[in-house]
This record gives sequence, C-alpha cells and structure tokens, in this order.
Amino acid sequence: SPQQPYPEPVYPRRPTRTVAVADVLIGSQHPVVVQSMINEDTLDIEAAVAGIRRLHEAGSEIVRVTTPSMAHAKAMEAIRDRLIQTYKPVPLVADVHHNGVKIALEVSKYVDKVRINPGLFVFEKPQPGRTEYTQAEFEAIRDRIRETFTPLVQTLKDQNKAMRIGVNHGSLAERMLFTYGDTPEGMVESALEFAQICAEQDFHNIVLSFKASRPQVMLAAYRLAAQRFDALGLNYPFHLGVTEAGDGEYGRIKSAVGIGTLLAEGIGDTIRVSLTEAPEKEIPVAYSILQALNLRKTMVEYVACPSCGRTLFNLEEVLHKVRAATQHLVGLDIAVMGCIVNGPGEMADADYGYVGKNPGFISLYRGKEEVKKVPEADGVKELIELIKADGRWVDPA
Ligand code: SF4
Repeated sequence: SPQQPYPEPVYPRRPTRTVAVADVLIGSQHPVVVQSMINEDTLDIEAAVAGIRRLHEAGSEIVRVTTPSMAHAKAMEAIRDRLIQTYKPVPLVADVHHNGVKIALEVSKYVDKVRINPGLFVFEKPQPGRTEYTQAEFEAIRDRIRETFTPLVQTLKDQNKAMRIGVNHGSLAERMLFTYGDTPEGMVESALEFAQICAEQDFHNIVLSFKASRPQVMLAAYRLAAQRFDALGLNYPFHLGVTEAGDGEYGRIKSAVGIGTLLAEGIGDTIRVSLTEAPEKEIPVAYSILQALNLRKTMVEYVACPSCGRTLFNLEEVLHKVRAATQHLVGLDIAVMGCIVNGPGEMADADYGYVGKNPGFISLYRGKEEVKKVPEADGVKELIELIKADGRWVDPA
C-alpha cells in the first residue's frame, strides 16, 4: 500500500499553512499528497463511483471529479452517498470551470474542496479589436469578480471546506493576457486576484496551482508564485502538475522533470501526474517521484549497477528475482551489484547487498559488512534467510 511511513524530507520545504481536505492535510508540515482525477462522466453515477474507488485504492489520496454543469454538480450528492455506502468516504474535489459560480455553490455541499480556474470562473467576454484594458476597466472587472466570487468563499468558509485556485497557462482571462502577456507573471497575478478576495474574507483554506504543458513555463510560474505570495504573507500550499504531459515514457519524464525539480527546491505540497492513460497509471509515477526525492518511502529502494564487462552474473535477471522476492519489504534499501570493484560505497548505504564475488559466487552484505559468500544459485534464498535472521522479514500479504 502506498500509505506507509515516510522519512523526514531531506529538502527544506517552503513553509506553508496547512489546508484540510476532509481528513487529508496539505502543507509543508505534512507528507506531499498524491491525487488524480477520474475520467468517467460524472452523470454516470455507478461508473464515477467505480472510478473514484479504483483511484483511491491505487493510492490517490484525494480524487477530483469534473462538474461542468448543474446536473453534474447535483450528481455529486449521489456519488458521495454511494461511496460511503459501498466503500468509504473519499476526499473529493469538484472541478468547476466556465462561469461556474452557481455550480460551485451547489457542489460545495457534497465535496471537500472546489477547484476553480480564475481565467474562466467569471465570464469576461472577449472584445474583438481591443488590445489593452485601462486601469479603471481592469478594476471594474475585479469588482465584478469580487461580487460574484465572495458567496463561494463564504460558503466554503462556513462549511470548513477547501478551495484550489487552479490557474492554467492556456486559459488566462483576456484582461490578464493583455496586461501581463501569456507569461508566468500573468498566471501568478490571475491567482493572486482571487486569493486576495479570499484573504479579505479571512478564508485561507486555499491551495494554489500554476500548471502548464511545458515544464519550463510551470517551473517559472511556481517559483514566481512562491516569491510573490510569500512576500504578501499568503503562504498557501501548492498543487503541482504538468498538464497535458502526454503518455508513455516521455509523459512520465516530463512530469518527473517539472514536478521533481520543484519538489527538490522545497516547492510543492500535493501533486498530480497527468497522463493520457488510465488515471490509475499516474499513481505509481507520482509515488516514484516522491520516493526518488526521499520525500515519501512507499516501496523498496533498489540500487543496481548498470552492468558492464566485469559483471559476474545476469544482472537484469537477478534484479528481477530479487525484486519479486522482496518488493513487499517497504522501508528496506537493497543493492544488486555486478561486482565489488568500486567497493561497498557504491551500494549507496543500502541495508543489504547482493554482489558478484567470483564466477559462480556472490557475496551478501549487511550494510558495508560482507556477511557471507554463497553459490549464485542460492543467492536469492540466502538473501531472504539473512533478512529473516535480522528480524526484518515479513511475509507478503
Ligand atoms: Fe561493472 Fe561492477 Fe560497476 Fe556493475 S558494479 S557496472 S559490474 S564495475
């Protein structure tokens, strides 16, 4: 299960407030939260319930659902109830986009968090031929936004629920585009406008996101947002993601580059890996990013050399066998090394090592200590015996 103990983060996290989404806490005092979104139609109650359950069981600690219309918003009541009857309460987020005030007010009754997109939430009719907004026009629209948005802020505050102000690079309001350009600055100012309205109402249960499909754009936006918001004392947690990352290997690499870079800088409190694949496939990628940065440890950490001319056994095959036998031992670090030419230090302080010794023989290590030499054919069995003798073995579930 992904919900395992985690080590202290090794990178100082950007200090943030804590935001509660039902019983899941988001912020720098808490482990980075993994979330995703179902792709079933919210009006299909049974399919949506099954999708939410599948994602939650896969390790998505918060699940997002789209609610593009009032009918979708109302369907969330049945979805929530059905989850409680047939599974358990799952922290739910409703995604609200175009002109979404009424939808958001309705759906806030049934979910734990509402995500709004500042570029779309209050309709701002594009004006052909226009190339700029005067300060007065800008302010007039801001007043209209305040008027429209405040009831949602109040209702979430009254119900002790959360909000994500989720900016997307591709959907900034025309007014922001003309004033700041299609830039990270425009993204940050779009969120700030809404966050300041929340702050005026003393509502701070807010998470912010600045997603873009190009990692370098989202990196710049989140970094700028951290500076800008923190300087104003609005230190809300950040939800990280690379939107439209695509699929397959490159989609995963893009997500890891964007999300991982920020996490390594201490920025980010909840993440979603967006892939053009079944959403449950996003979850292992998300946990792998967190594990690689030592932010959460949810699987065995394998250290293995790439093999070379010195390799004394079939490294790929042995790594598969070792993994198959030990992958349930969450918390352990296990090294599989083709030879010991570079010394035990190469095993990165693994708890156990399986290392080529002479042709036909391997050595087993406990930390840096060589414990015994055994025939290669008995290697995996002997490794298990060693872990058992140390009292660190548990039977697979
Ligand atoms: Fe080659 Fe040994 Fe290094 Fe593996 S540990 S890559 S076998 S030198």
